[in-house]
Amino acid sequence: MDENIGAKPPIKRFECNGCGKCCRNFGKDGFLPLWEWEVEEYEKLASEKGVMLQIEPEAVIHDRKSGLLFCLKYGMRFGMNNQPCLFLNENRCSIYENRSLACRVFPMAKTPYETHRIDDTNFGTCPALNVEKFFQAVGATREKGIKIKSQETARLFREFFVDNYDYCEQNEVITAVVKRTLSSLVYQKKVQPEEAQQPYDKQTQIYSFFEFLVKIGVCTNEEKIETVNTLKDHKLFFQMMKEREGLLSKD
Ligand code: SF4
Ligand code: SF4
Repeated sequence: MDENIGAKPPIKRFECNGCGKCCRNFGKDGFLPLWEWEVEEYEKLASEKGVMLQIEPEAVIHDRKSGLLFCLKYGMRFGMNNQPCLFLNENRCSIYENRSLACRVFPMAKTPYETHRIDDTNFGTCPALNVEKFFQAVGATREKGIKIKSQETARLFREFFVDNYDYCEQNEVITAVVKRTLSSLVYQKKVQPEEAQQPYDKQTQIYSFFEFLVKIGVCTNEEKIETVNTLKDHKLFFQMMKEREGLLSKD
């Protein structure tokens, strides 16, 4: 459905044409980023479908204090020849209701809150996305980008991308929670991180971030489950966004 979102000149709300390119081309050495709870979900779905995924920890960190290895995120690889995602079936995602946040965010890449400006880094490469028109609508040029000044610009993104925008914010909030938690632990000298030496063999135990927190006694397993359940809950997150917007619109 064509819809004027109120900007001048008017732009149309983004509509996916279902070409499936974003699930087929991850680029050389490309991977799909996954949170730890998404790894569990993907492995469960893969085993139900009888497919074998290649998922590896990304950015492994060695904690000098505990001697443990942990990672903040995972990446699903697509083989040497950049093969399509194994969940893609006739250009459709066969696990659509359970797809990862990275899949839900596309073709957005980053919110303007994250980048503090609008430029190409906010968008993924998608043939149905007319980035030029979007730039025109916010009064910017693609070459120069634009520094954002008002909440209106973020609202425009949200109007244009709808759910993709909300998922993008959720992803950025989770990233911020993980990074701030780690920084705080470093500040309190409970963790002493350093880049881990590669390569590790397959037997090396690398903990997911929240498992690591349990291992070093920062939280209990029950607290971990509660935190993860809150972070991954789309409905709860959307509700929080709506409440925030309600408050903002009263300002
Ligand atoms: S590349 Fe763009 S148009 Fe094609 S399936 Fe992905 S989001 Fe939709
Ligand atoms: S999980 Fe689904 S949406 Fe994500 S890359 Fe694979 S086929 Fe595409």
